[in-house]
Amino acid sequence: EFRVRFAPSPTGPFHIGGARSALFNWLLAKKQGGTLVLRIEDTDLERSSRESEENIKSALRWLGIVWNEGIDAGGAYGPYRQTERLEFYQQYTDKLISEGKAYYCYCSEDELEAERQELSGKGETPRYLGRCRHLSEAQKQQFIAEGRKPTVRFHVPEHQQIVFSDQVRGVVSFESDGIGDFVIVKSDGIPVYNYAVVIDDALMHISHVIRAEEHLSNTPRQILLYQALGFQTPAFGHISLILGKDRTKMSKRHGATSVDQYRNLGYLPEAIVNFLALLGWAPAGEQELFTSEELIEQFSMDRVAKNPAVFDIDKLNWINAQYIKKLTADQLLALTLPHLIKSGYVNEEDLTPEKKAWLEMVVWAVREQLSFGAQIVDHVGIFFSDEFEFESQEARDILLDPDIPQVMDAFRDKLAAVETLDIPATQALMKSIAKELKLPNKKVFMPIRVALTGQMHGPELFSLAPILGKERSLKRLERSLE
Ligand code: GLU
Repeated sequence: EFRVRFAPSPTGPFHIGGARSALFNWLLAKKQGGTLVLRIEDTDLERSSRESEENIKSALRWLGIVWNEGIDAGGAYGPYRQTERLEFYQQYTDKLISEGKAYYCYCSEDELEAERQELSGKGETPRYLGRCRHLSEAQKQQFIAEGRKPTVRFHVPEHQQIVFSDQVRGVVSFESDGIGDFVIVKSDGIPVYNYAVVIDDALMHISHVIRAEEHLSNTPRQILLYQALGFQTPAFGHISLILGKDRTKMSKRHGATSVDQYRNLGYLPEAIVNFLALLGWAPAGEQELFTSEELIEQFSMDRVAKNPAVFDIDKLNWINAQYIKKLTADQLLALTLPHLIKSGYVNEEDLTPEKKAWLEMVVWAVREQLSFGAQIVDHVGIFFSDEFEFESQEARDILLDPDIPQVMDAFRDKLAAVETLDIPATQALMKSIAKELKLPNKKVFMPIRVALTGQMHGPELFSLAPILGKERSLKRLERSLE
């Protein structure tokens, strides 16, 4: 059975890299008809919070990444939150200790630090050399009497080569001698990540562990634990780091890094999913826009790249713009409304149906200019205030052309006479002016645009008058000719 998991630590904003791991696992599970488990790895008690867990779940739901087992979904191998699984870990710790594969370590932080210093002084990798491996009962009693609280360390077998075939990176090998006996349970009784993850993945029957490259160096430790515990090792696949455009590790410096930030900026979940899929996975053809169904069909680990993925915000913006163009007017308003409210253009309190209909026309008229929802406020100012300036002398000069008075006269008369001022009517009306005056369309369209907006580019031309209405349009025409 194909079983994968996403196992986030709920320790802060949900990073875009975590969302990518979740997505790859989901795509694989869907493709194989397998199961995606969501497990919460909250053993870092100080940094973990329920709030962060809720945030991760809500981001996953928003992205359409559906887990069919785990937290909130139930399943046969729960509980799915690590802090609720302490007794499982305890059981295996007792077993490892009784088999001599793990032991209590009473070393103090100072002693450990001294050992690290000594090893680095000799040019060796700082690691634990196993001082507490073979303590006598008397020594143990002595330490306990001193009030020392032990950790549990795993006895790393000597001179072993740990080799595994990574689904992304190929054959990877590590020497066990470089590792040193590592802590598996802290002195407060809480297991560390490398230990809990093994027990959970094994007990939850995970067949494929697909996760970020940063965990590659943890994998040999985990494989040794699988062996010591008598569990079958799953397949591993480590997907590459995400770098910023300057090829350094993606961080806040590069802009938004959390799913929430993108959500709040008015990106669409379908676009984020599309973009994340391409962050490390290369489709076979030239196609760039994928529905989730297409991704599920085409995604495969053998086209996941070894080299780092570069987070190209321009590409995300392009993809998002393509999805924005597919929205209906009311969907587009829903996406942009929070930003219109925040900027003060719209008062949430008096959103009448008429007002909404008008706002739909407004946002629709600028949809081609939007890469994401928050940008709406940069494009709609001219609809909310009649006090605009000409954007440039070049724009102003357009209205000085000798043909302008007759164009404006014609437009004014036709506008005044038209019954229903909608987009088709406006289009017909403007085209008829060009025809009657025997002018190229451009010589009619551009001055009208400039007269109505002060700009040479902007909202859809034939929407301008319908949005502004007769009265405001006529006022603007007059003013432009002063
Ligand atoms: N809780 C770990 C993390 O968020 C999971 C790593 C793993 O997938 O094994 O990085």
